[in-house]
Order: sequence, then structure tokens, then C-alpha cells
Amino acid sequence: MQDPDVVIIGGGPAGLSAARRLAELGIRNVTVLEREAEAGGVPRHCGHLGFGWQSHRRIWSGPHFAAAMRRSVEGLDIRTGTSVLQIGEDGVLRIRDRSGLGEIAARRIMIATGTRETPRAPRFAGGSRPQGVMTTGALQQHVYLQGFRPFKAPVIVGTEWVSFSAILTCRHLGIRPVAMIEAQARTSAPWPGGPIARLIYGVPVLLNSRILEIRGKQQVEAVAIQSDGQRRELACDGVIFTGQFVPERAVFAEGPTIFTAGNVNAPLKTSGQCWHEGRAVAENIARSLA
Ligand SMILES: Cc1cc2nc3c(=O)[nH]c(=O)nc-3n(C[C@H](O)[C@H](O)[C@H](O)COP(=O)(O)OP(=O)(O)OC[C@H]3O[C@@H](n4cnc5c(N)ncnc54)[C@H](O)[C@@H]3O)c2cc1C
Repeated sequence: MQDPDVVIIGGGPAGLSAARRLAELGIRNVTVLEREAEAGGVPRHCGHLGFGWQSHRRIWSGPHFAAAMRRSVEGLDIRTGTSVLQIGEDGVLRIRDRSGLGEIAARRIMIATGTRETPRAPRFAGGSRPQGVMTTGALQQHVYLQGFRPFKAPVIVGTEWVSFSAILTCRHLGIRPVAMIEAQARTSAPWPGGPIARLIYGVPVLLNSRILEIRGKQQVEAVAIQSDGQRRELACDGVIFTGQFVPERAVFAEGPTIFTAGNVNAPLKTSGQCWHEGRAVAENIARSLA
């Protein structure tokens, strides 16, 4: 089979908008490799409103936005269930799909693998290893994709914008967070982040606070925190670690034929910004192929 002109790694907003833009520019020999069962990236499992305005002048939920993006690339070669394990020094991609390991080469490669939140281990939260500890991204997969409620009363660690996405996700299945914990003296999300959490969603925000230990046998039972210099316990049955995004760079390589777009180029952006960036990078790729 003929090698594609362009391989795009990652079928989120950046990758799909790039594939679409390349097709508009007459470059249709493009393959998108997506490790999940369906393309759409993070918005696919982000069931609240807040997507589509910057790209389509619509206000959609994440799954609605993801479906619109998938429709826009119908007829193109979108290979789901395909993980890129490595980009070799020779520029050949080592992949794993449903049939096993394989390789694919292309004249140009675009990395659009996004970003992920920092989980528990690198945050040095000590204690036991009970169930109910996860990032917002993992919580959204449970709640929106599987309709599963992993806890009833978690604490949320962090106060970035994404921490508010965690609150909205909790509300979807009647989960009531007991507190948001923030190490700094103010919320990371700009004002009125704190008042919104407290007054609209009923979630107290504990500033100058950090999590020391997670307790529990099967399920989380409590967390020990240091708050304004005092050690105290908070009863809860889950912990959501939010934000502190790190680029998804496991396959990362550099070279003249490799391009990047979307959240893999930190810092965290909105889905619409990534969508526009994907299109802009697609135009650079098209020029480089001319
Ligand atoms: C919890 C949360 C809430 C958010 N809420 C909003 C909001 O309300 N509004 C908004 O505009 N934005 C929101 N965002 C941000 C938005 O989701 C991102 O900006 C956008 O999804 C980034 O697009 P992307 O294409 O760069 O990456 P992603 O959407 O992360 O897509 C990357 C894709 O690459 C795939 N991939 C990664 N590695 C590999 C590999 N090795 N091989 C194959 N495939 C791979 C992944 O499976 C994924 O599908 C939110 C983000 C989060 C995490």
C-alpha cells in the first residue's frame, strides 16, 4: 500500500481540523492515527457545555463538538484503535493496532497528541492506595462514557479552569464534592472562580492548603491536609487531581518533516484554539509538500 503524504498522530480537535484543512487544500492522502475507539479527543468525554464557539460559532457540549469534527472528516482515512509507540530516527512510525505491531512511513508527520493532567504519584500525596483517586479526565470517562459513579463525596485538588469542569462532571451524576484544595493563597482560575465554586456549586475552597495523605482500605475514607499551617482531616470517599497539565510527548521526536499542533504544544488552550492551530499547521504542511 502507498505511504500517505501526511500522518497525523492524534484525532482530537487539532488533528481532525488539520486533516480537514489538508483535504480542503487538495491533500487527501492523509492518515489520522487515534488510539481510542473513536476520534474526537478530550471533548468526546467532556459532557458539559463550553465547546464550539471559537471554531463554529455554536455553544455545544464536548461530545456534540466531537461529533461535528468527526462528520467534517468523513471519507478520510481515520484509523482508530491505533497507538503510535515511537517515531524512529528514520522517521518511520512504530504502531500497534488491532492486528498487532506495525510500521507506517509518511512524507510529513504531525503530532497532535494533546496533554494530560498530573496524576497522584508525581504530586507526592502519601498514604494508602484505595480506589477512588483519579484525574478529571479519568472521571469524565467514567461519568460520561460509562455512566459510572466512582464516589459520592470527593475532594478536588486544584482550582484551575479544569477543576470547575470536575465540579460540572460530578453534578452530572449527583456527586457532591466536599472541598476544593488549593496550595496558593488564591484560586488558579481567575476571579470569580472561588465565589462561583462556593456560592453557585456549594463547594468550599480551602486556600493555602495541600494534601498530605490519602487514607482508606478499599475506597478512600479521608484525606489529611495541611491548611494554613494546621494539619486536619477531611472525610471524603474520593480524590480528583485536576490540572497541572503535561504534554503527551511519549512519541515525541524532532525533525524537518515533523510538525506539532494543539495542546501538545503547552500551555493548555481551549478546544477552539487547538482547532484553529491544527488548520494553520496544516497550511504549513501543505506548503512544505508543494
Ligand atoms: C477536563 C477538561 C475539560 C475541558 N473543558 C473545556 C471546555 O469546556 N471548553 C474548551 O474549549 N476546552 C476545554 N478543554 C480543553 C480541550 O479539551 C483541549 O484544549 C482540546 O481537546 C485539545 O485538543 P488537542 O487536539 O490538542 O488534544 P486532545 O483533545 O487531547 O486529543 C489528542 C488525541 O491524541 C490521541 N493520542 C495521544 N497519544 C497518542 C498516540 N501515541 N497514538 C495515537 N493517538 C494518540 C488521544 O487519544 C487524543 O484523542 C477541557 C480539557 C479538559 C481536560
